[in-house]
Amino acid sequence: MKICRIAHKDLEAPRFAVAVESNVFPLAADFNFEKIELLTGHAGIPLAEVKLLAPVTPSKVVCVGRNYREHAAELGNKMPDEPLLFLKAPSAVIASEDRIELPAVSQQVEHEGELGVVIGKTARNVEDDPLSYIAGYTCVNDVTARDLQRKDVQFTRGKSFDTFCPVGPWIVTDIDPANVTVTTRLNGEVKQHGNTADMAFGVAFLIRYISAIMTLYPGDLIATGTPAGVSRMQHGDVVEVEVDGIGILRNQVYDPRQII
Ligand code: MG
Repeated sequence: MKICRIAHKDLEAPRFAVAVESNVFPLAADFNFEKIELLTGHAGIPLAEVKLLAPVTPSKVVCVGRNYREHAAELGNKMPDEPLLFLKAPSAVIASEDRIELPAVSQQVEHEGELGVVIGKTARNVEDDPLSYIAGYTCVNDVTARDLQRKDVQFTRGKSFDTFCPVGPWIVTDIDPANVTVTTRLNGEVKQHGNTADMAFGVAFLIRYISAIMTLYPGDLIATGTPAGVSRMQHGDVVEVEVDGIGILRNQVYDPRQII
């Protein structure tokens, strides 16, 4: 099943919806991932008529650093012996087709294509059946100001500029997170191509580990780490993150200081 979040002229406010082929079916206004109930009496809306919004409005975005050996190596880092976590500001979240805006204070903004995990029910100190706490999976671009990340040591600034967390285009509920390919293209050229089977810490382990630190709420997002091949993005570039079985998250890069 595909869960999206939409804006449409006939809806008063953004709604979660289920996409079926070329139509979307809005869900109840209080949808919170626990239960899917289609609004009765509401015909589908053609997908082409809606604006797809980011499919999550997370209370937090928990990111995993250095979860793929070759990516750790390309940045000159050793693999951590337990997950390296950091938080990305939820205000950085944007949808597929929204623009990534380059901040003036960085000269090295890079893409990081990742599998995103969306929490479906409150998770605290999870031990049994961690995957049952997951609503579904999506594509994430953990956009990073690499120069600032290095300079600051703490990752907050380099990871959290507005527009630095493209998510989407939707959430898919039925993929195997332990074996999907994650591909990132820049202007059509493949830059990153990995498989989640190569993650040092898999999704089930991460749910247990993170929920022992902080309570995860429905709609919270975990970015599970990026494969090797990160590279710099510049004004006008188009970046696509594709996860097999989910779809393509596509964003153009924009520098407000450049004349278009
Ligand atoms: Mg990352």
